[in-house]
Amino acid sequence: MLQLRRIAQKNIPRAGKRLRQSALQVGASRGLATASEPYDVVVIGGGPGGYVAAIKAAQLGLKTACIEKRGSLGGTCLNVGCIPSKAMLNNSHLYHQAQHDFKKRGIDVSGVSLNLPTMLEAKDNAVSNLTKGIEFLFKQNKVDYIKGAGSFVSPTKISVKLNDGGETEVDAKNVVIATGSEVAPFPGGAIEIDENQIVSSTGALELQKVPEKMVVIGGGIIGLEMGSVWSRLGAEVTVVEFLGAIGGAGIDEEIAKQFQRLLSKQGLKFKLNTKVLSAEKKDGKVFLQAEAAKGGKEETLEADVVLVAVGRRPYVNGLNLEAIGVETDNKGRIVIDSQFNTSVKNIKCIGDVTFGPMLAHKAEEEGIAAVEFIQSGHGHVNYNAIPSVVYTHPEVSWVGKTEQELKADGVKYNIGKFNFSANSRAKTNLDSEGFVKIITEKETDKILGVHIIGPNAGEMIAEGVLAIEYGASAEDVARTTHAHPTLSEAFKEAAMAAYSKPIHM
Ligand SMILES: Cc1cc2nc3c(=O)[nH]c(=O)nc-3n(C[C@H](O)[C@H](O)[C@H](O)COP(=O)(O)OP(=O)(O)OC[C@H]3O[C@@H](n4cnc5c(N)ncnc54)[C@H](O)[C@@H]3O)c2cc1C
Repeated sequence: MLQLRRIAQKNIPRAGKRLRQSALQVGASRGLATASEPYDVVVIGGGPGGYVAAIKAAQLGLKTACIEKRGSLGGTCLNVGCIPSKAMLNNSHLYHQAQHDFKKRGIDVSGVSLNLPTMLEAKDNAVSNLTKGIEFLFKQNKVDYIKGAGSFVSPTKISVKLNDGGETEVDAKNVVIATGSEVAPFPGGAIEIDENQIVSSTGALELQKVPEKMVVIGGGIIGLEMGSVWSRLGAEVTVVEFLGAIGGAGIDEEIAKQFQRLLSKQGLKFKLNTKVLSAEKKDGKVFLQAEAAKGGKEETLEADVVLVAVGRRPYVNGLNLEAIGVETDNKGRIVIDSQFNTSVKNIKCIGDVTFGPMLAHKAEEEGIAAVEFIQSGHGHVNYNAIPSVVYTHPEVSWVGKTEQELKADGVKYNIGKFNFSANSRAKTNLDSEGFVKIITEKETDKILGVHIIGPNAGEMIAEGVLAIEYGASAEDVARTTHAHPTLSEAFKEAAMAAYSKPIHM
C-alpha cells in the first residue's frame, strides 16, 4: 500500500485527490487503483493532439487526465519530430551561411567549424525546455498527468502500466485516443532500420558524426528536411524518390520543380522515378540496390548512412482496441466520423492515428474540436485550410488546392504570381529566390490555393490560411495594406496579379 502511494504521488504530481485516494483504496483490495469518480475526459497520448485536447478540456471545466507513456509530453512532434528537426535546420542553416553567405554581406569570419556535439545539445535543450513547458501548462490548467501506457479494459475503464512500475486504473466518461504514429518500416521488410547506419528520422536527429555520403530514401518533407541538414553540415546527400517529383503529397507541381532546382543548386542530388529494392551492410558502408520505378536496369548506391523516410503509420499498439471493438481501416487508422467519434460510444480519436495529414497543427485543431464536441456538441476543423510547410531554405508552404487538383476537378481558375526577386525586402536581404502563387476561382476571384517557395514561406502562409478560412477574394487581400518593406508584400502583389496586375513586376 505504501508503495502504491509512492507510485501514485511520484507519477501523478498533480493527480487530484481522486486518483491518489482511489489508488490506495482499490490498491488494497485488487492491486489496481480505480478512480472513485470518473474523469469527464481521459486523453490517451500526450502529443500535440492529446496535450492540447487535455488542456482545452480542463479549460472548458471538464475533469481531465492525460496518459502518456513516453516519459515526457509533446509526443513525436516535440521529442523526435517538428522541434528537434527545426533546431537542426535552423542551426545548420546558420553554419552554412557563415561558411558560404556571410562574405558577400561584408562579414568576414575565419575558422568557422562545426561543433556537432554542441549543436545536438542545443537541439536537446530546445526539446527539454518545451516538453517541460507542457508539464507546467498541465499543472496550471489542472490536468492530471499519468505517466504510463494506457490500455482499454472497457470503453470507460483504462488500465495504466505506470512507467515507474505498478499499475493503476482510471475511469472516464469520455476517452480521446491520441496515440499518434510511428516510423513506417521499409515496404516488405527488405531494409531494416538499425538507427545507426540505416536510420529513421529519429536516428537522423542523433548522428554523432557527419556522414561522408548519405542516401535518403523518400523525397517527402521529412526526407528533404533531414537531407538538407546533413548536406549543409558537409554530407554528400542523394535523395532517391519513387515518384517523379519531390515534396510529397499535396505540393503544387510547379513549386516542386522549382524546389528541386534550388535544392540541387545547394548540392543535393536527386534520383527520381527510382525504386530502392534492398540494402546490404558491408565494410562499414551500406550498399543499396535500386532500379527505375517502372522496372529496368539495376544500380548500386553506396552510402555511409541511409535515411529511410518513407512515411509514418498509425500507432495503436497496446491499446487493446480489439477488446472494446474500436474499428480500424486497412491502413491501421482508427475510423472516425465527422465529430471524431470512433465506432464505440464516448470514445473519440484525433491526430496522426486517424485520417488526414500527419501534421501537428492538424492534430491540435482536432484536439480542440473533439473536446468541444464532448462539452457542447459543437466543434469544427476546416480541412481545406490546413497549411503544410517544408522548413528547408528556401522554405516551401501551401494551403488549399493545387493547380493540378483544380484541373482534375474541371474548375476554371486564375493564377497570380509574384517573384521574390521583385520584392524589395527579399532583394535587400540578398535572399530572393522563389515566388508566391495564388490560385483563385475565375468567376468569383475567391482564393482557392496559395503556394509559396521562398524566404519565410512558413510564416507567410498564415495569411493564405486566414484568407481561405474567411473565404477572401484576391482583391480583398490586394486591397489590404501590407507593411513596407516586408516579404508579405509579395503576397499582396501575387493577389493583385490574380485579379488585375502587380505594381512591381
Ligand atoms: C522528423 C519529423 C518532423 C516533423 N515535423 C513536423 C513539422 O514541422 N510540422 C508538423 O506539423 N508536423 C511535423 N511532424 C509530424 C508531427 O510530429 C505529428 O503530426 C504530430 O506529432 C502528431 O501528433 P499526435 O498528437 O497525433 O501524435 P504524437 O505526437 O505521435 O503523440 C502520440 C503520443 O501518444 C503516446 N502513446 C501512444 N500509445 C500510448 C498508450 N497506449 N498510452 C500512453 N501513451 C501512448 C506516444 O508515446 C506519443 O507521445 C514531424 C514528424 C517527424 C517524425
